Amino acid sequence: MNSGQTAPTFQNSQDALLAGHSSGLVRRYVFPKNTVLFCRGETRHCAYLIDKGRVHIYGSNSDDEEDHMLCALGPGEIFGEIALIDNTPRTATAITEEETEIFVIPRDALQGKLRGLDPIISLLISLLIERYRTTRIHLPESIKQDEAGDFIEKVSKYESLPEEILRLRNSEAQREMALREMKLEQELRSGLKHKQFYPVLQPILKLPEEKISGFEALIRWQHPSRGTVMPMDFIPVAERSGLVQHLDRLMLEKVCQILPSLQERAGGAADLFVSVNLSGVNFASRDVVDLINDTFKRTETDPRKIRFEITESALIGDPVLAEEILQALKKTGARIALDDFGTGYSSLNYLHRFSIDTIKIDRTFVANLHDDPRSIDIIRAIVGLARNFNLTVVAEGIETDEDVKALSSLECDYGQGFYYGRPLDLTDAHIFIEKNLADR
Ligand code: C2E
Ligand code: CA
Ligand code: CA
Repeated sequence: MNSGQTAPTFQNSQDALLAGHSSGLVRRYVFPKNTVLFCRGETRHCAYLIDKGRVHIYGSNSDDEEDHMLCALGPGEIFGEIALIDNTPRTATAITEEETEIFVIPRDALQGKLRGLDPIISLLISLLIERYRTTRIHLPESIKQDEAGDFIEKVSKYESLPEEILRLRNSEAQREMALREMKLEQELRSGLKHKQFYPVLQPILKLPEEKISGFEALIRWQHPSRGTVMPMDFIPVAERSGLVQHLDRLMLEKVCQILPSLQERAGGAADLFVSVNLSGVNFASRDVVDLINDTFKRTETDPRKIRFEITESALIGDPVLAEEILQALKKTGARIALDDFGTGYSSLNYLHRFSIDTIKIDRTFVANLHDDPRSIDIIRAIVGLARNFNLTVVAEGIETDEDVKALSSLECDYGQGFYYGRPLDLTDAHIFIEKNLADR
């Protein structure tokens, strides 16, 4: 759009004149040809919408270069819009090319509308403005030194970010993801408030006799419009936002409430436990121990009936603090299982450094049992180690009769998987207990 035409020089701009009209109302003005609406370097509070006529925008891409025409704007086009958001100086000069009718939009006029806006949209707007400024602004030295000083500092920090990150930040996909993430976070908050989360129970059986020994509580979200939402679709966002701590606490609370009814179904025939997942996010502070203790007391739960499942990632951030928390949890009487073993860091050091009782072998090893001989070797090695450290082993993801045979011969202590039972609601869990114990 660069026509090569240089900007006419004017002393006073109409923007200064219009600054008095900050009544918060959008007004329509007629400007004669060659009116300077605003000059580069000024800080003003109005944007403009052309109704009739033409406006030329002048600027340059560097301090040394003379101003030239950057573009010509016509009816329906908005310019000077950044002034609605912040006080940074105009980056270009705007001059009417003919008699022009313009709506002048003061910042105040938008305040009310912005206040009522979805916070996600507000956030996205500010992100886009920041990006726009970063990529487009080229201010003369004189301006950089005064009013715009703070802003320039911000921009230079930005510019020092690695290019891949800048690109990622600016990509369409990234923005969509941010939007989705923020929406989901809001929905999670609302879901917590409206009690939309509940546990389902997957049976864990003693091998080789296949007698019910307990359940793992798995979270589900009864979403008002999407129906049942699975944890994989919301736990990662809950972890990033910290909301997972509320979910985990809620799950523990619910499990403590239903535990007596499970025990009752088993009568004296089995001493059932329930496993509760505890995200690594909980291991950032000791507070989790008090909260858990409080839940045990309030619900009059015997902690020995609860087993917390944690993953290795909970242990590697701050291993000393993690072990302190584990010891405090064990002191309550609760037990600890290391979940998804074999998928993460899997340092064998863990097994003696941390206060754990059980290893859960990840289901990927069980899934590969019959195709990949290494899976059998790995399971055998894990069981061997567990024996040395006096730990029990649960094999996850048992789907077939052959899986059961192989895992029993590898001397896994417990089994869990779709072969025995999908995660069940409370009524079905009761039925499962009765049937399983009746068969013995
Ligand atoms: P996880 O702790 O490893 O839980 C086991 C997952 O494997 C469950 O998926 C279960 O339904 C699935 N599963 C069980 N048996 C089989 C099988 O035979 N075959 C296959 N293919 N899958 C099987 P789910 O319920 O979707 O949970 C996924 C993950 O979400 C869990 O993995 C856990 O990491 C997380 N999660 C679930 N509930 C909670 C919770 O209350 N708090 C936290 N922090 N995370 C949770
Ligand atoms: Ca688990
Ligand atoms: Ca697992």
